[in-house]
Amino acid sequence: MTRLDHELMDMHLEDETLVLHGDHGDELSISPPIYYSATFKATDAEMFADMANTPRHTGFYTRYGNPVHQRVVSILARLEETETALLTGSGMGAISTAVLALVKAGDHVIAQTRHYMSTTKLFEEVLPKFGVSVSIVDQDDVASIKAAIRPETRLIMVETPANPTLVLTDLKAVAELASAHHILTIADNTLASPLNQKPHRLGIDVVVHSATKYLGGHHDITAGVICCSEALADEIWKMHTTLGSVLSPMDAWLLLRGLRTLPVRVSRINQNALALAGWLEQQPEVERVFYPGLESHPQHALATRQMSGFGAVIAFAVRGGYDMTSRFVSNVRLATHAVSLGGVDSLLVHTAAMWSGTMNEAQMKAANIAPNFVRMSVGLEHIEDLKRDIGRALREAQP
Ligand SMILES: *Cc1c(COP(=O)(O)O)cnc(C)c1O
Repeated sequence: MTRLDHELMDMHLEDETLVLHGDHGDELSISPPIYYSATFKATDAEMFADMANTPRHTGFYTRYGNPVHQRVVSILARLEETETALLTGSGMGAISTAVLALVKAGDHVIAQTRHYMSTTKLFEEVLPKFGVSVSIVDQDDVASIKAAIRPETRLIMVETPANPTLVLTDLKAVAELASAHHILTIADNTLASPLNQKPHRLGIDVVVHSATKYLGGHHDITAGVICCSEALADEIWKMHTTLGSVLSPMDAWLLLRGLRTLPVRVSRINQNALALAGWLEQQPEVERVFYPGLESHPQHALATRQMSGFGAVIAFAVRGGYDMTSRFVSNVRLATHAVSLGGVDSLLVHTAAMWSGTMNEAQMKAANIAPNFVRMSVGLEHIEDLKRDIGRALREAQP
């Protein structure tokens, strides 16, 4: 590192500057090189021993780390205000690696009723196979989390906002509760992004993301990140090299490129989504809108306390039933009919159609998934174009 690099490491930088100047390398090119190499050479035996025995070395073997990873890590750790971070090949890679690293047989874990579907699977199906017991509790009530604590509780997993109705978890209250009981906390911060919510600042130990979403931001890569202390990273890294959820050097480079524009993208997405959510509330064809930024959201006060912006995802219920909603979703032109969120272009899905293969009607009801729910991730299109297109699609879906 040059003297300038050291100075930049120590300078306080706002997020907008951090994503541009928070990483450094020795090369003279402005765009960082992609180290497309699975393995790295040592120049002598002593160097080899050092490479092989240094945890999280970024120039030994790419499953252990890669120079491009290091650049992404230095930005993401500072964005989440943690000491360091680990990159994985997907968001689920980050979540399963972090959780499996931190629990052992006999431990108890508390998770939420509303998690990303594969996270729920991890808690309901995978952990019990290895002798870890799990309590699933309502996330909008810290008292229910408190009531679930046992002497052997090791970990509380939270995710906020969460699908399908963008229900929130009080991060500060959970962090205080956990710390009083010496319990570790993990927050999935994917739906908020580090620009809108900083869980570690509120006391959460480990922050995970699907970097497939806002951080990459272009619907082209899958990636994940685990942001935490150096001590926890050393522990989680051992599990990481064992499970092997590796981010390829090319995808790490694309993630780095995505990060450069993260603050401007999220800022515009916040504006667009808030405007669209407010507009949707006034449409006669729309029954109900769920968005943390709206005063009508049951936890709007909490949202304004722990979030500085409310993100891309809006859930809404179309007046009429499953068929009407299905026609509406097919009619929209400017939001692509696809899963995922947080990218440059808008996407939308008919929530009940998405789960029709995995859940029966009773399960959907229990999971709060109504047949007329739509989930939309608002992108960077002009807001007036989005309103016009969605307004037309709603009208044309009428029977
Ligand atoms: C997408 C997503 C994940 C999983 O991430 P992948 O990159 O698809 O593995 C986890 N949590 C949340 C909240 C997500 O939206």
